[in-house]
Formats: sequence, structure tokens, C-alpha cells
Amino acid sequence: MRVSIVGAGYVGLVTAACLADQGHDVVCADIDRTKIDRITGGASPIYEPGLDELMARNVGKRLRATTDVGGAVAESDLTLVAVGTPSVNGTIDLGAVVSATRAIGSALAGKSDYHLVAVKSTVVPGTTDGVVLPLLEEESGKRAGVEFGVGVNPEFLTEGQAVSDFMGADRLVLGGIDGRTHTALEELYGAFAPSVPRLLTDTRTAEMIKYASNALLATMISFANEVGNLCTAVGDVDVVDVMRGVHLSHYLSPAGPDGVRVKAPITAYLEAGCGFGGSCFPKDVRALIAEGDRREQPMRVLRAVMETNDRQPDELVRLVESAVGDLQRKRVTVLGLAFKPDTDDVRESPAIPIVQRLAARGAQITIHDPVVADLPGELQQPEVSLSVDLEAALRDADVVVLVTRWAQYLEVPSLLAAVNPAVPIVDGRRLLEKESVANYFGIGVG
Ligand code: NAD
Repeated sequence: MRVSIVGAGYVGLVTAACLADQGHDVVCADIDRTKIDRITGGASPIYEPGLDELMARNVGKRLRATTDVGGAVAESDLTLVAVGTPSVNGTIDLGAVVSATRAIGSALAGKSDYHLVAVKSTVVPGTTDGVVLPLLEEESGKRAGVEFGVGVNPEFLTEGQAVSDFMGADRLVLGGIDGRTHTALEELYGAFAPSVPRLLTDTRTAEMIKYASNALLATMISFANEVGNLCTAVGDVDVVDVMRGVHLSHYLSPAGPDGVRVKAPITAYLEAGCGFGGSCFPKDVRALIAEGDRREQPMRVLRAVMETNDRQPDELVRLVESAVGDLQRKRVTVLGLAFKPDTDDVRESPAIPIVQRLAARGAQITIHDPVVADLPGELQQPEVSLSVDLEAALRDADVVVLVTRWAQYLEVPSLLAAVNPAVPIVDGRRLLEKESVANYFGIGVG
């Protein structure tokens, strides 16, 4: 199929590269010229394992990039909208969706053949029906369900494993206004094995499935964090041991066909840490809370989920203070700036409020991250610097604080043993074995 993807960010570019690799003819359109130039030059503007290889195989062949949104739509049969839907004051900002939709709609005005527009961005239930569809009709002068179709195709990829998540999709949620829309979306995903469940549904249900999925995972994280904080308060009980016991439930670790118990991947969300971040969970949970308020259906559980999450940086900073006392002029090395491992995305990373709180208490902070190359604007202050030299960052520290679960931090105990053996380490992700360092403080262990 000839596919245009509007918005070439984490979701748009990964989707474009994967669909091109599956044989579609794909063009990404974005208003950010720098991004488009990089993609056209064959370089990925984001760090995502496997993406460079896909781009090397497809850029200039089945994958192109342009800043001309209208042109991209005109030369394709199907358009996916993958622009950002950030949260502004707790509510979803549809500015990019609206401007992308207008551009798509006016390109549809000049098209003679049927076209499908599907929203891949995460939008609150009712947005596609209530905002996108009428705008497309207004701009194109055509009728939805007659000259063009409208669908919702939420994306479930996780940054850091986006390519493998996309290629190994667990489900395809295909929301549409009619059967023709469903048929076109099924054709788009024709390369996926028949065993991958296709859920054909309406647009609102598809929109709600995405929010409910993210909200569930966020809830599990805050639940584990709250249990962990209570473990700390109780004393002599470690949340890691507690959760190990919880995970052994047959609901979470069912027996496989050979009788061997298999831990379900969802248990990864039932572990205590220093909170969730990223471009999705916080904004999506907030958007659902705001939608509940708007519809006079308060989302009480989700409010508590956010409240617990917002407090988690304080828990970690409290632990740092219990390790080294007053933070005035203390040299703190923070390990990890990305919101999770294997990505360079720092949007709403828990590292940001943690570092801000440490700096506010007078600490000098050195941040190490294996891939993040620049400090985000919120952390550009004299007390905060970024280092690429892990060993030096460990050597010069009065306390080390582990914030992101990068696999390479598993080497920290042996590096510390060589350069700074007595330094306290505060493990905000419970990545390290307690016994592996001399002076260990972990979140959720009293
Ligand atoms: P992103 O910020 O990385 O990318 C969005 C892109 O859209 C940017 O490159 C921006 O320049 C472009 N853009 C903005 N307005 C435009 C316009 N009018 N025309 C063309 N391009 C425009 O965002 P993302 O992380 O890829 O997320 C996109 C959507 O997918 C969001 O709704 C997000 O919630 C959802 N989502 C994200 C993830 C994830 O892990 N990042 C996973 C699932 C779903």
C-alpha cells in the first residue's frame, strides 16, 4: 500500500520504518525540517534499537521523508496521524492533531480516489468522531464513509524496544467508522501473522483501549511503589522479597505446557522504583482524569496513582539524605537520565524532579547516561552537569543514586569496588544485589 505517516517522532518513524520493511511504500511527513533532513540522509533522529538497520535497508527505496504533508497525503492511499498529544495543565492538547488533520483534509480535497485516515496518536475517546472527522469533512468538502474512511489505530509500542514491539505486535486494534475502513486497516497489517489478534471495533472503543491499557500499567507501578514505601516504614521487610512472593501467584506466573512456571511480563510493572515517566503514562493518566472530571465521573483510583507517582522522587531524595545527611555541597552522581533504559527520551523522566530536588538542597550533581547527550532545559543550572565518563562520575561521588535501569549499571558494583568502595549507593530501581556494594540503600527496604 502507499502509506503516508504524519508526524515522524518515536511512533511515526518507527511505524514508517517497520511498514516499509514489510513492503509498503511509505512517506513520513513532519513540520520539523531538521528531523526530515536527518531521515532523508538515512540517520535516525532518535535512539531506538534496530531502527538504524531498518532505515539503512529502506530509506531512499520504500521509505521517504518530506515536510510537505499535503503532498505526502496526495500520493498515498492511507494516512496515519502520529503527531504528539501532550498534556497541558492536565488536559490533552489537540493542537498538533488539529493542524495535521486540516492539512490532510485540504489534501483530500484534491484527491479523486478513496482514502483512509487513521489516528495513531493517543487521543481521548470521542476525539476522532468529534474533532478529526468533522475537520476532515470541512477541509475536504467530502463525506466520511463515502469518499474517505476514518479510523483509530492505537499504538502499543514501548520506547527502547519499539521496533521489536511493532514487529512482534501482541494485538492490532483497528477502530473504524465502517467496514471499508476496517478492510483497509487489515490490508495495512496484512504482513502480520494470522495468530496476531485483530480487534475490529469502533473509533471510541479503540481510543479507550489505549488509555485503559496505559492506565492499568501505571496503576500497577504506583501500587508496587506504595507497597514499597510501606515496607520502608515498617522496617526489616524488603519489597523485592514481597513482590517475588506476589509474582509467584498462579495468576502472575502460570504453569507453561511443560508444567514449568513462567513469570508473566506484566510482573515487570509490579516492582518498586522511583516512579514512572516518559511521554505516555503521566500524560495519558492525566488526560483520563481530566476526561472523567469533564464527564462528572471522577477517576479516583487514577488520581491516587498520580499522587503516589508525584511523591516518589521525594521518597528517593529522603533515602539519599538518610545515606549521607545534609546534601549541602555534597557531590551526587545520578545514574540515568532517560525515563527508561534503551531510549534517549527524557520527557517527564523521574530523573528530572529527583535532580531538581537534590539541587534545591545544595547538592552538586553529575548525571551519567549511556545515550542522552544533552541536559533537558529543566536541568540547565550551574549545579548540574552531564558526564559521559561513568568511572570518573563514580570516583568523584559522595553518594551515587541509580535512577534508570540501564543494563550497563549492573557493572557499577565492580567499578565502585575499584574506584570508590565505601561510597553509599541509593538504588532507586532495585537493580543491584544488596550485598554487591558495601553501603547499599534501596527504595522499598526498611
Ligand atoms: P513525538 O513528539 O516524538 O513526535 C511527534 C511528531 O509530530 C514531531 O516530530 C512533530 O514535529 C510532529 N508534528 C507536530 N505537529 C505536526 C503537524 N501539524 N504536521 C506534521 N507533523 C507534526 O511524539 P511520539 O512520542 O511519537 O507520540 C506520538 C503519539 O503517539 C502521541 O499521541 C503519543 O501519546 C502516542 N504514543 C507514543 C508512544 C511512545 O512510546 N512515544 C507509544 C504509543 C503511543
